[in-house]
Amino acid sequence: PRLANQIAAGEVVERPSSVVKELVENALDAGARKIEVDIENGGVKLIRIRDDGGGIPREDLPLALSRHATSKIETLEDLEAVATLGFRGEALASICSVSRLALTSRPQNQGEAWKVEVEGREMKPEISPAAHTPGTTVEVRDLFYNTPARRKFMRTEKTEFGHIEEIIKRQALGRLSVAFTLRHNQKVVHQLRPAASEEDHIRRIGQLCGANFIESAIPINVSASGLSLTGWVAKPTFSRSQADLQYFFVNGRVIRDKLVAHAVRQAYQDVLYHGRHPAFVLYLELDPATVDVNVHPTKHEVRFREGRMVHDFLFRSLHRALAEVKP
Ligand code: ADP
Ligand code: MG
Repeated sequence: PRLANQIAAGEVVERPSSVVKELVENALDAGARKIEVDIENGGVKLIRIRDDGGGIPREDLPLALSRHATSKIETLEDLEAVATLGFRGEALASICSVSRLALTSRPQNQGEAWKVEVEGREMKPEISPAAHTPGTTVEVRDLFYNTPARRKFMRTEKTEFGHIEEIIKRQALGRLSVAFTLRHNQKVVHQLRPAASEEDHIRRIGQLCGANFIESAIPINVSASGLSLTGWVAKPTFSRSQADLQYFFVNGRVIRDKLVAHAVRQAYQDVLYHGRHPAFVLYLELDPATVDVNVHPTKHEVRFREGRMVHDFLFRSLHRALAEVKP
């Protein structure tokens, strides 16, 4: 099982940022309102994620670390309409197999916290009492210490941290109402307050995407036939200083999808924004039963049951908004 886990880990855990992604997704799935991320040496030395979510009962701690044990899917219907970010039950088991991992948790309604520690998937984790406020902390040390081939692929501390920052950025854009703190080598890199009002949202988008984006952005707020699209698209005057500023969320999950990209590009070009690279932060909400996220664990793909309708909805909504401010 050790080797099987390590092979599977290769799928899920490519680099430190993939660990951060999985752990923050777990915190979000647990209903966290506040997530703290501590990184040391680009994540190779330490990744620590602390949340104030629902927590894990003592008896479930070892289970959480074993392969294909998920608390999120119980029936086939659940699988048909996945509402959580995770559902495969692979992440923690995979991360365990390539690191030294400690999981500490205290369920919301309980007075005690418990901790399990695993090293390279030592299968009989000791459970010991710990001190913790309600919620969960996962600590991942010495990533890839036992898989030298993978470790060799690690880039500089700066590069690896850059990937982590990008992951946190996406997650913080995806969940505007959740507070995030990101620290690298004990220095605060992002401190994001929970955003409730429109004004808060705009402040957070500005913090993450730059003031020049949000100042020149057109707000979008359209709903029709069970679909809702909100967010911001840049006006043509926006000059992109950074690389791609293209964030598209489907039910809170960041995706990269051909159909979506096509609809956005078409809308831009149709309003004569030729040669312009679209920049946007957009949120599509729809019935989870009409979108299949069960495609691949790490590729950000989705499959819409009614692709044509989604495409036309996106195209029309954006087209209208862009046409109003046509250059
Ligand atoms: P998945 O997210 O696909 O269910 P994971 O391996 O990521 O699988 O996590 C396994 C299980 O551990 C989850 O189903 C959940 O029950 C529990 N878990 C993991 N992280 C947390 C957390 N931060 N808070 C509460 N429960 C958690
Ligand atoms: Mg998960």
